[in-house]
Amino acid sequence: MARNPRYDLLFEPVRIGPVTARNRFYAVPHAAGMTNSMPHMRAAFRETKAEGGWGVVCTGYVSIDPGSDDAPLPYATLWDDDDVRSHALMTEAVHRHGALAGIELWHGGGSVVNRLTRLPPMSPSGTSWMATHVGFMGNQRPRVMDAADIRALHAAQAAAARRARQAGFDIVYVYAGMGYLPYEFLLPEWNQRRDAYGGSLANRARLVRELLEVTHEAVAGRCAVALRVSLEELRARPSANAPSEAHELVALLAELPDLWDVKLDSSPTDCPPSRFAAEGSHEAVIDFVKGLTRKPVVGVGRFTSPDAMVSQVRRGVLDLIGAARPSIADPFLPSKIDEGREQDIRECIGCNICISSWHDSVPVRCTQNPTIGEEWRRGWHPERIAKAASTASVLIVGAGPAGLECALALGRRGYEVTVAEAADDIGGRLRFETRLPGLAAWGRLLDWRRGQLARLANVNVYRGNRLAAEEVLAFGATHVVIATGARWAKLLYSPLEVPTGLLEGPGVLTPDDLAAGTVPQGPVVVYDFDNYYMGGVLAEHLARGGHSVSYVTPAGHVSAWTIMSNEQPQVHRALAAAGVAVHTLARVTAFAGDSLTLAHQFTGAQRQLPCRSLIIVGARLADDALYTGLSARSAQLAEAGVRSVTRIGDALAPGALVHAVYSGHRYARELDADPATLTLRRDAPLPRQP
Ligand code: ADP
Ligand code: SF4
Repeated sequence: MARNPRYDLLFEPVRIGPVTARNRFYAVPHAAGMTNSMPHMRAAFRETKAEGGWGVVCTGYVSIDPGSDDAPLPYATLWDDDDVRSHALMTEAVHRHGALAGIELWHGGGSVVNRLTRLPPMSPSGTSWMATHVGFMGNQRPRVMDAADIRALHAAQAAAARRARQAGFDIVYVYAGMGYLPYEFLLPEWNQRRDAYGGSLANRARLVRELLEVTHEAVAGRCAVALRVSLEELRARPSANAPSEAHELVALLAELPDLWDVKLDSSPTDCPPSRFAAEGSHEAVIDFVKGLTRKPVVGVGRFTSPDAMVSQVRRGVLDLIGAARPSIADPFLPSKIDEGREQDIRECIGCNICISSWHDSVPVRCTQNPTIGEEWRRGWHPERIAKAASTASVLIVGAGPAGLECALALGRRGYEVTVAEAADDIGGRLRFETRLPGLAAWGRLLDWRRGQLARLANVNVYRGNRLAAEEVLAFGATHVVIATGARWAKLLYSPLEVPTGLLEGPGVLTPDDLAAGTVPQGPVVVYDFDNYYMGGVLAEHLARGGHSVSYVTPAGHVSAWTIMSNEQPQVHRALAAAGVAVHTLARVTAFAGDSLTLAHQFTGAQRQLPCRSLIIVGARLADDALYTGLSARSAQLAEAGVRSVTRIGDALAPGALVHAVYSGHRYARELDADPATLTLRRDAPLPRQP
């Protein structure tokens, strides 16, 4: 298919200082969990984006000096020549496909605590960044930088920039965002210096200016120099000389970088979940930048729609369409637009599981794209899959995320696939969940698979078909895949999270009951020890529907795990806005029909809470009765010609959507594969040179 001429603009080359990007698609720096300890995985992951048509592909954050150590978070390093060779694997891979390679040089300043290197951290005035944030707490405060430290920082940036050039990078960054060192200089709360680096904005911006100058000098015109800067806080600050301090800063440094990479200030606002922010949410903060510089501007906004991208360029907001998440969910997004296949774009759903991988310090995972991070270690390519190795037929029971992904990947391999779904529509748990506040965009997971499956003549999906063991046997497929999901349990737990027994009763409900249409009676209590989104989103949903709702959790915060996915601060705000009463560090121990007994998680102190409907959002148990029923009939299975019965997704191990999709994909990749090829390839740092 040919490209829609409406999108030609996106394929224009863009000059960035001494280099030229082949198009406007720019995979911005984002941590992917693959540090210098996994150089082959990292290179293959970024190569896939270059292959998929991105004009520029950047690294994640790369420390310039051992004084900037984010361990155990997965940062990269460029401290010596061994690191140069490690990064060169990526630049060579990216260049093979005609893309430019960018490197985000980074010093964490007061946001790091140097757990690994044990060097005292430093910041402009001795203040930490987010020292009380759960994930980043440390108990050593940074020292105040003196003039020698500033000179040493210049030298470290220059040395790292020279190494970056040596490693083959085309774009080298100065990073003044997200609480990292140069950004701390920009904000007066963190920068209370009385020397030439503190006071007026021109003084506070001096360090950034000098870092840009030393970087230019170090790369000697061979690489472009980009400035990545957070503008949210500065835009909110009045300035005597300009509409805001952000305007003043951009005007001050306007032509000094070859590229402006503009972003917001903290992970939850810069990379907000779709639950709380729409596509293009950065525009209100960064829309002025292009008016103050002639240099190209790149920014992000979870852009997946080519029309939204074109609009950004036409309206003079951005020159380059930046993407982290959309390039993870679909590394081939640019190629698909180029080939007139927009409908094939696997759109990011904005769930932020990818971000949680960074918090977990592991290679990036994605709900939509199970192949991400697995390019080298499992040899999975997002657009290619091995042809079927047999003429086997496969029956998949259940068309939730696991069953659908499995059907799609098997169908692409060429197997004859039948999917039986009990409900009247596909989607599994998402049939209900996409109707909850803010979760509509998660429906993209289903929409994309529905669209792709419709093109495969060898996959048939039957709705309204609940299969029992007899019917599976009668169907007689070569392989049976059980993707029947999981159910929420009415189980209570001890403080050690050991089940203490079922709580039955007329007012005791689970999310499955609400999905089936049960209307709770007020006052309603949502008791959440699942800790992911379901408890919080249900409380918000019910409160918005007019119920009086309390939210109870043994954790210290609402939806405790969502700190990992950048959602938690906004879940707290959403519950407050909806009028939900929040009770943390509390466990439900008994329910009398009109009141609950709560015990404090640590002291055990008891109190009562009025309640007529208790919604337990706790454990999920695999819905594996069909699997166990079939497994008990080995003779009949053999007679029916069924060679294997396998559980996938929640029916195997209840988890998040990302686990279900991955599980379904993995089954499909591994069917009929030579077992010798199924081991996880282990990556390792490049051997150090003597
Ligand atoms: P997962 O996340 O693992 O895909 P879900 O719970 O989202 O799990 O989806 C499981 C799907 O399986 C649901 O749509 C459910 O209706 C369907 N299902 C469960 N049992 C059967 C059965 N015996 N026959 C057909 N479909 C079933
Ligand atoms: Fe988008 Fe979720 Fe994938 Fe991240 S994990 S890229 S937010 S779909």
